[in-house]
Amino acid sequence: MTPEKATELAEISNAIHLMEGETHVLVTSSKEKQIKDELYGHVDQTFLFDNDLQLGSAAYRSTKREVQIGDRLLGGSKQTTMMIAGPCSVESEEQIESSAQLMKELGIGALRGGCFKPRTSPYSFQGLGLEGLKLMAKMREKYGLAIVTEVRDATHIDAVIDYADVVQVGAKAMYDQGVLRACGKARKPVLLKRGFGSSLQEFVQAAEFILSGGNENVVLCERGIRTFETQTRFTLDLCGVAFLKEKTNLPVILDPSHAMGYAYGVPDLTRACMAMGIDGLLIEVHPNPKVAKSDAAQQLNHQEFRDLYGSLSKVGSAIGRVLV
Ligand code: PEP
Ligand code: MN
Repeated sequence: MTPEKATELAEISNAIHLMEGETHVLVTSSKEKQIKDELYGHVDQTFLFDNDLQLGSAAYRSTKREVQIGDRLLGGSKQTTMMIAGPCSVESEEQIESSAQLMKELGIGALRGGCFKPRTSPYSFQGLGLEGLKLMAKMREKYGLAIVTEVRDATHIDAVIDYADVVQVGAKAMYDQGVLRACGKARKPVLLKRGFGSSLQEFVQAAEFILSGGNENVVLCERGIRTFETQTRFTLDLCGVAFLKEKTNLPVILDPSHAMGYAYGVPDLTRACMAMGIDGLLIEVHPNPKVAKSDAAQQLNHQEFRDLYGSLSKVGSAIGRVLV
């Protein structure tokens, strides 16, 4: 189909046209109750969706999408759970190298670390920016790790897309249309975190912005939502995770660190997440959490992380999942 024809068809139905591999797909809003006659003959597949979860829905694609991250696969049908870990923020070469060495020691394939931090206060540490991205790239080269780093807003998105193996869209950026659309055009995997005040519907629709932009590599991350409870930082919505597993075709990972907010609860919570049968885990770990420049209270130290990591395969084997 020519781009002109695609635009013409999109105008007929207010739809988005894209290629999924070799297949032309025209995605319409759930407001459309029937496929318009003019569209037949121009599209390979037609689906009518009864709600606004389209390309990411299990109704559209019954098998779970898989996303290549470095040398491993996240999602798909192989019953694996991928560990992604590292500090909240990249703070110095020494600090991030220490985290990279820990990943290497444990055979973990992906290192996280924020460089553009979306802080609640403008007076807090804002991240090392481009210098941090360069340090992360250095860790990839030196240790063969896939690097996961977040984008705060559209001002530096090109740099993050350039340097990262996985672009993390944080809870606060989940509604940023500039970020979502840029991620849709990118060909790097996107780890989309749920906003802490977002419904599941809003969360999956944010993912639709990326998918409909042509980027199929989207991973959903539940990281806790705000409830009336203040003793823990957020409340991890495991019911929501069950919903996402059932109704979407996207890999789902869990971030117990931000949900709990306190290191003491993270190991138990992580094992509970693992027992749910999820595609991945995102854990914050720091060589010396007491002096961490962001999220100090929730980061595990290296020994705590080793102990936790060592306990996860047993939980995995109880439900037929392998930690990768
Ligand atoms: C983070 O991963 O360090 C982070 C800022 O997370 P969130 O966007 O979930 O708050
Ligand atoms: Mn953090």
